[in-house]
Amino acid sequence: MLSKKALEKLNIFSNTDLLHHYPFRYEDLTHSTIGAIISSRNLYLRTGKTIQKIILQTNSGNQELTFFNQPYLVKTLKPGLQLSFCGQNYEIVTGQELIHTGRLISIYPETKGVSSKWLRRRIYTALKKPIEDWLPEIIKAKYHLIDLNPALQQIHFPKNQTEINAATARLAFDEMFLLQLQAARRKKSWQENKLAHQFKIDQEKILSLISSLPFNLTAGQNLCLKEIIADLGKNQPMNRLLQGEVGSGKTVVAALAMYLSYLNGYQSILMAPTVILAQQHYQTLKTIFHGTSIKIELIIKNCKLKIENCDIIIGTQALLFKKISSKLGLLVIDEQHRFGVAQRSKLLAAQKTTPHLLTMTATPIPRTIALTAYSDLDLSILDEMPIGRQPVKTWIVPALKRLDAYHWLAKQISAHRTQAFIVCPLINPSEHESMADIKNVTEEFVKLQQIFPKFKLGLLHGRLKSADKQALLQQFRDQKLQILVSTPVIEVGIDFPNAAMIIIEAAERFGLAQLHQLRGRVGRGNQPSYCLLFTTQEKTEVKRLKYLETIHSGLKLAEKDLQLRGPGNLYGLTQHGWLNLKLASFTDVKLINLTRKAVAVIMASCRHNQKGKFLPEEKANAAQSLN
Ligand code: ADP
Ligand code: MG
Repeated sequence: MLSKKALEKLNIFSNTDLLHHYPFRYEDLTHSTIGAIISSRNLYLRTGKTIQKIILQTNSGNQELTFFNQPYLVKTLKPGLQLSFCGQNYEIVTGQELIHTGRLISIYPETKGVSSKWLRRRIYTALKKPIEDWLPEIIKAKYHLIDLNPALQQIHFPKNQTEINAATARLAFDEMFLLQLQAARRKKSWQENKLAHQFKIDQEKILSLISSLPFNLTAGQNLCLKEIIADLGKNQPMNRLLQGEVGSGKTVVAALAMYLSYLNGYQSILMAPTVILAQQHYQTLKTIFHGTSIKIELIIKNCKLKIENCDIIIGTQALLFKKISSKLGLLVIDEQHRFGVAQRSKLLAAQKTTPHLLTMTATPIPRTIALTAYSDLDLSILDEMPIGRQPVKTWIVPALKRLDAYHWLAKQISAHRTQAFIVCPLINPSEHESMADIKNVTEEFVKLQQIFPKFKLGLLHGRLKSADKQALLQQFRDQKLQILVSTPVIEVGIDFPNAAMIIIEAAERFGLAQLHQLRGRVGRGNQPSYCLLFTTQEKTEVKRLKYLETIHSGLKLAEKDLQLRGPGNLYGLTQHGWLNLKLASFTDVKLINLTRKAVAVIMASCRHNQKGKFLPEEKANAAQSLN
């Protein structure tokens, strides 16, 4: 009996999932042979293994099939039966349609205990039940899409390539369409939330705070601020994503939005992903609001503070478990991808009215993904750095040049009194750190201490206690350490202006956007800064890494990642399962445009229809769980 667990490994939880478990290729077994079984027997070897010999009578003489260690076969492949076979594929001819031989056969993603053959049989049976086609006729007609039933039939059991193409077109359309429909619905339901209070916009006060800043806002900051202020003046809650790379100056933009909330008599919350970043925000806001009467409080774990009397509350996820006052006018979430969507809704569900929501992220989201999966959010992009910031000079260092690079690094540190990071990769490329990774970075740390005997080195990884981590970072900030060796998962949003160099080991394991994010740890000061990408790879990998030498925009690099490696490896976005399209692609601009229009049509007609009308039940549930 097949366990449910095995199927769940393939993300198959229901019959619908089974039908949408598509083959990734086909084998042409059109030229199978049919024969009558004459004899079938087991041969027992001394080793305990068995061999199955099946002899068949075919039009071109007798043929022998051999199998290994499947003694049960002789029970099913009995003499007298007709067998259709090709290579190791076979099936008994029953007069019904052949599904494993004599045609193009589908090959599926498999797992232990779930073979393509097993899946094929189950899908064949599942396809016998009629499936409701939820896509409206007008859309099918307009975009020349075939019906759902034949599409599923043809993707699993095609007669020819033309059928595969037509099926793929329809099912890829569905994927992209549903993704956007879900986003459109999230947007609609967000807009139906009730806002506590419509903000008045006091231009003068804002301008006066801006002019008190020690710098001029960049054009990008001004533009984003304008978009945010326009949202805050509406009688619908804002749901905006402010995207800008590390160092692009998102905090001050958020601070100005919080100022507006304050001017209207409302509280703001700023949530950071870590304690360190919360503390940093606290310092930053203290500076920005110096000279105003705004009350700011930092709330971290185990800290009981009265929050009723303050205007801005800064904290981490821990804030989600506090009762939030009805005076909450604006919620700012920094580094969105670390917060679960579920956590966020938990926070907001507790409110009678919805605050404005501003999410800030340094994760570059390629345009086509922003337009589809994230189209429920309005997007503001900070695409320029404050002036004076120089791009980090980046080189690829092949294995042969490794020692030279270490020498060079040592000279730089001595000559300019700057500091360096050395980042060791995760052994298993996931976004989490394992014990093996710690072992790896610890061993490397010992080696590096021998390579740099003149310097003091620190070792930083995610399993350190929070206090130890902070102590270490403080030592680095105080320049008591020259080199900080770390895993890549360590906080990246922190400013160390004196760090001018970063070495990244096994750079080929990372996506371009993530490498860019890592190199963003340097280049925060006035001195020139450098990123050395160590790699033992050649050719294609070096060609990919070379983009980092010339491209200095995280967003452009993320677009390259999408092109070169698909959405599965996008930095910061990979845990979002809904990006795992099976047939459609985020590089298919034509499809994206088509489906976008189709969603607009549906959403417009939805007003007259019952919610959920066009979605099969499972998909509707999925859409709900994303809300
Ligand atoms: P991030 O987008 O990574 O959150 P921050 O808001 O922390 O970036 O800003 C990074 C640094 O840039 C801070 O030290 C901030 O004071 C500074 N900064 C922000 N805006 C400007 C600007 N327009 N001109 C000069 N420096 C700026
Ligand atoms: Mg920040």
